[in-house]
Amino acid sequence: MIKDTDFDRRNEAVPDPKDGEFLVRVTHLSFDPTQRPWMSRDTYVPAIPIGGVVRAAGAGQVVKSRNPNFKEGELVQGSFGWQDYIVTNGTTDIMPVTKLPAGVSPEQALGIFGITGLTAYFGLTDVGKPSAGDTVVVSGAAGATGSVVVQLAKALGCTVIGIAGGSEKCRWVVEQAKADAAIDYKRENVAARIKELAPKGVNIVFENVAGEILDASLQNLALRARIVLCGGISGYNADDPNETIGIRNYLLLIGRRARMEGFIILDYAPRFGEAVEALSKLIARGALKTPVDLQEGFENIPSTMRRLFEGKNIGKQLLKIADP
Ligand code: NDP
Repeated sequence: MIKDTDFDRRNEAVPDPKDGEFLVRVTHLSFDPTQRPWMSRDTYVPAIPIGGVVRAAGAGQVVKSRNPNFKEGELVQGSFGWQDYIVTNGTTDIMPVTKLPAGVSPEQALGIFGITGLTAYFGLTDVGKPSAGDTVVVSGAAGATGSVVVQLAKALGCTVIGIAGGSEKCRWVVEQAKADAAIDYKRENVAARIKELAPKGVNIVFENVAGEILDASLQNLALRARIVLCGGISGYNADDPNETIGIRNYLLLIGRRARMEGFIILDYAPRFGEAVEALSKLIARGALKTPVDLQEGFENIPSTMRRLFEGKNIGKQLLKIADP
């Protein structure tokens, strides 16, 4: 688990943009579990170097510009990092700087139309390939990604079982996200409860947690089930993720003729527009709730990051560090 003392807060003069560059005042930071492995090792992107700015998606406002494509006052998003200003030429670290579409707030841009909303959409539709009538198990069901998966799967006519920690979250998953049932993994035997709720087996597992929770789902697969490996937060704080995330029941895939597939949302960048359109339609007809846990204050960066690992957030974890 990260500690406040793992980070060094430095004050520097606000940089001036050169020709082709612009200065962004960062207003909102996105908190994503994947930042934790980024701090420890090379993953699908290089590790954050010791002494470097912590990589993070963020939204902000252009406050000075020497780039004709970005005007002062415009709201933008990108991989801005844990800092309150950034000078950029339009490309940041792992993603380009893009303008927020008219009418889209920073909370929406970083949440439902940001990495987690898009991950839910493509992970479920493209990797999971749901059909009406399928039974879908979603772990991390009250989180940013999971809560959208639950609602998308319901909108597609699936039966949905959410897994989350604690009775408040489980109540939210059923009452607000409209899952058919929720399992409290902190209190219940997950494998036994899935069996009870889905006696014919599970067609899609949308996995955000991995480890023992994934093992419980693997014991309950229907024939030709699809396991969408989205994330494995239960192992992100481990020194050796391969040891702790290890699953026992993977051989059950054979008898069930099941498929387990990982994906990284960044690969879907050319198709993001498709997801934004589909998600917007669901929001417009009231079929998609997009809760945000909005904390405030630059000094609360480490504690906001910890909220993901303490399970304190319902929906997207964000931190506001300035007003646009
Ligand atoms: P969430 O909003 O879901 O927040 C994380 C949640 O994980 C917590 O609220 C907590 O919920 C749960 N959690 C934390 N620690 C544990 C644990 N030890 N065991 C079980 N549950 C735990 O985060 P995101 O929606 O941003 O991310 C969800 C998953 O999706 C992550 O694994 C992330 O890495 C992955 N992801 C993958 C992407 C890809 O491209 N493949 C892109 C974006 C996200 P609770 O209280 O229920 O325990």
